[in-house]
Amino acid sequence: MKTLLLDSSEAGIKKAGEILRDGGLVGIPTETVYGLAANALNAKSVLKIFAAKGRPADNPLIVHIADFDDIKRFALVSEIPKAAVKLAEKFWPGPLTMIMKKSDAVCNEVSAGLDTVAIRFPSHPVAQAIIRAADVPLAAPSANLSGSPSPTTAMHVMNDMNGKIEAVVDGGVCDVGVESTVITLAGDTPRVLRPGGVTVEQLAEVLGKVDVDDAVLHKLADGKRAASPGMKYKHYAPKANVKLLKCSDDAYIEYINSHAASDVAALCCDEDIPFLKVKTFSLGKRGDYLSQAHRLFDELRKLDENPDVKVAYSRLPSVDGVGMAVYNRLIRAAGFEVIDLEK
Ligand code: AMP
Ligand code: MG
Repeated sequence: MKTLLLDSSEAGIKKAGEILRDGGLVGIPTETVYGLAANALNAKSVLKIFAAKGRPADNPLIVHIADFDDIKRFALVSEIPKAAVKLAEKFWPGPLTMIMKKSDAVCNEVSAGLDTVAIRFPSHPVAQAIIRAADVPLAAPSANLSGSPSPTTAMHVMNDMNGKIEAVVDGGVCDVGVESTVITLAGDTPRVLRPGGVTVEQLAEVLGKVDVDDAVLHKLADGKRAASPGMKYKHYAPKANVKLLKCSDDAYIEYINSHAASDVAALCCDEDIPFLKVKTFSLGKRGDYLSQAHRLFDELRKLDENPDVKVAYSRLPSVDGVGMAVYNRLIRAAGFEVIDLEK
């Protein structure tokens, strides 16, 4: 199959809408990462997403809508939580996915057999325009091959999906850079299953009490069921071994320099660059979590463009604000291993 690279002009968006309505797959820009979209109402199209990504069938998809009222088509109307309305007023359109009890309109292929559905109203104008042009809701996971870093540019999508999907729409670089915050409202207390651009602190301001699922920051115990199936899989891993160092800024530089070699790199901050004796991949200014989230996946992909790099050392990020989203991705990229130099 030849994969079309469409621009985000009216004509490009119209073409993407037609492909989606006809049952094809399109890589679409959103404010979080690029999504691999299919008509959420067409089970056959949805199955193609799993095939193109190599995604395990038990990992459900997020339904993307471009009108708040569409929530009523996919969530069980009698059980739409008040919290969902409050959160939508504050954070939609935007990088927040809410999980609720599902209606019969959601097919098993989307919900992976669960009785809940994940719904998001993206803020990216091109994403909204494509949903409207398709005139159907779109099921869309991140547009990477399963296990690889999520794509934040159209080129990243092309690198993973060329020849496997009908088209990619180029809408520029994704603003947030990590996938949406996922919160479940289907239990007693709202619980964050995946941190993202909308922070736990912001959610707590609206809802009062918000739990953070254990699997966000820790490895799931053997045999324990993941509340969010996606959390149990190895994720975001570049080919090089990512190693996380828990230490002071000085100790970070000292440790890396004492391990300097041609196959060692640092996933670092701008301020470290002059002091490091290895190849550097910077996530931006120290403490700038927005920049770290924005650049993380691009830098992980750049690591893959340097096959000579076998080990990349990063600091263990802070879990404050958007830092938690960076922590969650990096700890998975590192297979949950942390070298604690403070001990
Ligand atoms: P991605 O599509 O790559 O952004 O991943 C979507 C994430 O949302 C995965 O971690 C899924 O496991 C999770 N997810 C989607 N639907 C549900 C659901 N109904 N219940 C729990 N987690 C969900
Ligand atoms: Mg993904």
